[in-house]
Amino acid sequence: MPQTEHQLIFQNVQSDHLRQWFAETLAAYPELLPHPIYLRKVAMRYSTMRAQPVINWGFFRRAHRHYRVDFSNHLEVTVHVKVRELPREVVVGWFAHELGHIVDYLDRPWRGMIAFGLGYALWSRYMREAEKRADSIAVDHGFGAEVLATKRYLINHATLPKHYKKRLRKYYLSADEIEALITAYEEEGEMPDIVEI
Ligand SMILES: [Zn+2]
Repeated sequence: MPQTEHQLIFQNVQSDHLRQWFAETLAAYPELLPHPIYLRKVAMRYSTMRAQPVINWGFFRRAHRHYRVDFSNHLEVTVHVKVRELPREVVVGWFAHELGHIVDYLDRPWRGMIAFGLGYALWSRYMREAEKRADSIAVDHGFGAEVLATKRYLINHATLPKHYKKRLRKYYLSADEIEALITAYEEEGEMPDIVEI
């Protein structure tokens, strides 16, 4: 019998609604069914949410890899914005984006994952491409409105630090770019190439 339920493990996530929203978002990603997926709350210095493969024996065999989405509830951005206080649409858009990263990792052998990690950390263009792919995959899974809501929320939220907003503009798709993705997805059911501005 084919597997129909995701293997979802929560680590340090007390909020019932965050658990619920993550499970609902994950349900739209059937290609992740074979992989255990963790949602973990953890203190992070430089990011608010991130998606990574778990480094264990499964890491070396694509089919057996585990993946983890980490979110921070303490530092930097979340001093100003607590994840558990965000509206549903914004959180779901964010989760959908992180799961988009994981889909983007699925076909990469372990050496490819290490190359990805280095490229992401060292080369801003590589990072922007990766962020673009994660948004595109999320839109492709039906989360266009939510991804847009996340973007608008972060850009418009008055209390976010300036350097964080600057980073958002530099590395992430703009609301207009996401709207173009959604329109193309609705009209043709496929993703267009995004033109660099
Ligand atoms: Zn991302």
